[in-house]
Amino acid sequence: MWDLRVDRGTRRARRRWTTLRAACGCVASRAMSPSAFPSLADASAYAPTTFAWTREATRANGGITTDRWLDVFAKSTVEFVNRARESEEASGGDGSRARAFGDAFARVVEACRGLTCEGDEDALERTTREAARSEASTSYGDDAPWTGLNCLEMCRVRDGLLRSYGFYDCFARVKREENRAALKTLPSVLADVDAKGDDAERLMNVVRGCFAGNIFDLGAAESAALFGNGGGDFASTKDTLKKRPWCVDDFDALKTRWLDGKPHAKAIMFVDNSGADVILGMIPFARELLRRGTQVVLAANSVPSINDITAEELVEHILPALVDLGDTILSPAIADGRLRVVASGSDMPVIDLRYLSEEIVNEAKDADFVILEGMGRGIETNLFAKFSIDAMKIAMIKHKEVATLLDGELYDCVVKFDPAPRR
Ligand code: MG
Repeated sequence: MWDLRVDRGTRRARRRWTTLRAACGCVASRAMSPSAFPSLADASAYAPTTFAWTREATRANGGITTDRWLDVFAKSTVEFVNRARESEEASGGDGSRARAFGDAFARVVEACRGLTCEGDEDALERTTREAARSEASTSYGDDAPWTGLNCLEMCRVRDGLLRSYGFYDCFARVKREENRAALKTLPSVLADVDAKGDDAERLMNVVRGCFAGNIFDLGAAESAALFGNGGGDFASTKDTLKKRPWCVDDFDALKTRWLDGKPHAKAIMFVDNSGADVILGMIPFARELLRRGTQVVLAANSVPSINDITAEELVEHILPALVDLGDTILSPAIADGRLRVVASGSDMPVIDLRYLSEEIVNEAKDADFVILEGMGRGIETNLFAKFSIDAMKIAMIKHKEVATLLDGELYDCVVKFDPAPRR
């Protein structure tokens, strides 16, 4: 139905994907059977997405129709087309592939509006799954049962189409720049954490750091505009965060577990964006866990998606830079593997925990703490996912629609902490 051309970019992407699979120990293939996160409380009852998309505006869905959600995707595509054009022009192209991607995505969005109106679920499934198919995707979850149009399916379409048009990693340049800038800022952020007197103050400091870092998100039109305007100073963002109570605020429960409970043995931390997010937000949080004797596994995408950090980037660029810092907690932990990286298997900014790489599933078998960070992995998917171990979801809200549904504001904060159910 759409012009899914195999061009130089796609061929490059295929080669790159083969290399990446080997580099990250990721074993994705279309034939692979699904591997679910082992500590889901009930894998058969698990539904990845948080918000149901409906045709009618009801009070229960905050008056947000499928059309409004499709608008969110349509609006954020401008940033994708710009980044795609930039990367195409950098390799001597004229921007026509980027325009073709934008047009193809716009056609799918419009088709989805029409089919939603007609209530034709079969055609919606066919249309989106077909558009999403790309040789350069990991294809995890391609066989997931269709449960209606939602944020996960639209992310699958957008990323799949980008790859089909030869854009494997069109945010690569901005990710590199943001990583470089964040690494320069990291020592002062760690010094600020260390200046806090006790465990509770340090915990609050790193939680606030996670929120401040998570604002760097080029997948959301609002924060993409903020960054385009030169925003993003980490310290001032941290100082000007919304005051508590946040719209989902389990910080006190987290603190109680942190102060009164036994330190966790092993945490799996699903991380989100490059730059300030992972380096100034999640690494200091991981460092506090390490300080308590917890092993930390950073679970990152196998394949690039928007400005999300990948497992390969963490292994090749971030961890070596952290070792070079000579930090007394991070450096030895990286050297002896107490802080390590595993490819999650995902190729999207959201995550379906039924379709993961074998490597992360194996790592998670003896974990007693799972952390899902970012709006895609921790709010739009998995906010209400139940686990048999301690679970934390942490993110900043960057879509008005999400804010409405959670009774919050734009740039509100979410920290959801669910202790493991008592046996
Ligand atoms: Mg992201």
